[in-house]
Amino acid sequence: MAKITNPFDIYKLLPQTNCGECALPNCLAFSAAVIRGQKKLAGCPYLKAEDKKELVNRISIREEFNRARGEDLDALKGMIRAVNLSAKAHLLGARLVSGKLAIKSLGKDFFVDARGNVTSECHTHAWMCVPLLSYIVHSSGMDLTGRWVPFRELKDGSPMNALFKQRGEKPLKKLLDRNSELLEDLLGIFSGERADNRLFSSDIALTLYPLPKVPVLVCYWNPEGDMDSDLTIFFDASAEKHLQIESLFSLGVGLVMMFEKIARNHI
Ligand code: SF4
Repeated sequence: MAKITNPFDIYKLLPQTNCGECALPNCLAFSAAVIRGQKKLAGCPYLKAEDKKELVNRISIREEFNRARGEDLDALKGMIRAVNLSAKAHLLGARLVSGKLAIKSLGKDFFVDARGNVTSECHTHAWMCVPLLSYIVHSSGMDLTGRWVPFRELKDGSPMNALFKQRGEKPLKKLLDRNSELLEDLLGIFSGERADNRLFSSDIALTLYPLPKVPVLVCYWNPEGDMDSDLTIFFDASAEKHLQIESLFSLGVGLVMMFEKIARNHI
């Protein structure tokens, strides 16, 4: 039976109520802690006995998880030390400033030193650090293809697509249903660009650049007659050459969580 190294395989069997009884803030954090060997499945009283039985022999703990994903922050910092930042800057669409790699994310400079420490001219978002370091380590430097694809069409995206919809696209759609002006505001705050909405016949389309060579296209369709509104987050087809699917997931979902926070606090 195949070993589980991806926390999403546990998450999808949890009730996803984020009740906190496992002493972690949400079910995703619990799933990741189980994979890392920091929590036992028994920590969630709501996991069905038959699912627990099935999972227990299939979970690989931290070391294998890190090797498989290469996404652990400390492991990534270790890998950054082996990267020639000066030689890679151009490939990443970045530049070298006082020995640090300056990478634009959503219009703001993020600086990464040779030991993988991340600083920024604005508040450093924790969710950005892993995709950012992963981009430096894994990116092939491939140029954009100009072909937009949904998450499910990226390499390894299909098994995680339902979760991406649930954690990323659905909450963003809800946000825009309530506040259609939000996308306009996001354009200004995050140096986005209005995209050609004829491409997917959407009512609103904008491009944001969380990483220089990993843009996302957000398309929103207004409700019409009996049809509900709809929203899709597209990636350039080259995204899988820059980041592993888990980092692309974190990037998309992290963006949406940040937008929700902004909508709550500032707009
Ligand atoms: S106890 Fe279970 S349902 Fe509650 S947050 Fe933890 S994992 Fe989720």
